Amino acid sequence: MFYLKKRIEISAAHSLMLDYKTKCERLHGHNWNIIVYCKSETLDENGMVVDFTHIKKKIVDQLDHQNLNEVLSEINPTSENIAKWICEQIPHCYKVTVQETADNEVSYEKDTL
Ligand SMILES: [Zn+2]
Repeated sequence: MFYLKKRIEISAAHSLMLDYKTKCERLHGHNWNIIVYCKSETLDENGMVVDFTHIKKKIVDQLDHQNLNEVLSEINPTSENIAKWICEQIPHCYKVTVQETADNEVSYEKDTL
């Protein structure tokens, strides 16, 4: 099995609609640290699991310097939902870690590939 780990940093804003009162419902930003984990038993014709550059481009093009409530309008953009959404975008991805700050981090992992 081949394992790949790609770290990406983006800047983006969000506001959260929760069922309790919170400062997070006001629009605010983070410098998000995202780690994408992929695995595959076989390599593509280029000898790769997934090209690092393609992973970065896919995430940065869609999310960097964006309002996540607008670009991910189908989800409530919590770190948990963002991690799952990213995992679904990347071929061979089985896990995504999303860090809002050094102290706040979540991971999403698929049960199986
Ligand atoms: Zn936030």
